[in-house]
Amino acid sequence: MARVRAPAGGADAAARRGCAGLSRGVATPAPRPLAIFGGTFDPVHLGHLRAAWEAAEQLDAEVRLLPARVPPHRPQPLASAAARVALLRAALAGQDRLGLDLRELARPGPSYSVDTLSALRAEYGTQRPLILLLGEDACAGLPSWDRWMQLFDLAHIVVLTRPASRPPWPDSLQRQWRQRAVAAPAALRAAAAGAMFSLRVSALEISASQVRALLAAGREPRYLLPDALLADAALLAPYRMPPL
Ligand code: ATP
Repeated sequence: MARVRAPAGGADAAARRGCAGLSRGVATPAPRPLAIFGGTFDPVHLGHLRAAWEAAEQLDAEVRLLPARVPPHRPQPLASAAARVALLRAALAGQDRLGLDLRELARPGPSYSVDTLSALRAEYGTQRPLILLLGEDACAGLPSWDRWMQLFDLAHIVVLTRPASRPPWPDSLQRQWRQRAVAAPAALRAAAAGAMFSLRVSALEISASQVRALLAAGREPRYLLPDALLADAALLAPYRMPPL
């Protein structure tokens, strides 16, 4: 697909462009990128976790799952923030590659990514590459996000392949892709922000909607979720049909 093909000389070209003016000198060792993976996680499932894991490995980045309190671009979550965090904590237990960042839950009002990335940029300074991880479906809606063009001043955008959910990209997004796409993750260390990269991850056709529908129908979503989520009945209780 055209939108996932990098233009000729992608990585080098991005480095030369200095991506949004946040480039650094070649002699400085590149700080490890920090990648955030936002979502409602209503509930978290193996599609999220595997994609985040592969991103951490392939980008050699610190990856944090970042649950939204009030997602501005989609219906409100079914489970409370506290219930979704409990699920995330259970899902992430026993490993230390993927972290949890709860800052959007602490902030009142809609969870705008541009505000979250501004806060991270203020915290980590101008040098550290920040990455916004987005599934292909979520990325298609990017031009409707609040102050979306500012996102490129703050972070790189890495698009995780999701073949079963691949809506067409609007022209404005395709234009950004043509200007910003890089061919390899190494280019994401050559600047702190401003590039786009498509990361092929294992295609796991799992969605939170599917998991919610199974639970509402009284079925068991085993093997779509980490076992830990099924081991404690209280964790998924918000999604189960009410007892008769
Ligand atoms: P829902 O079915 O409720 O819309 P979802 O499964 O898409 O939920 P979200 O919490 O909305 O999950 O998604 C958070 C992020 O994870 C988005 O960027 C989304 O594209 C991505 N994502 C979700 N499921 C997958 C998957 N199976 N593979 C790759 N990316 C995914």
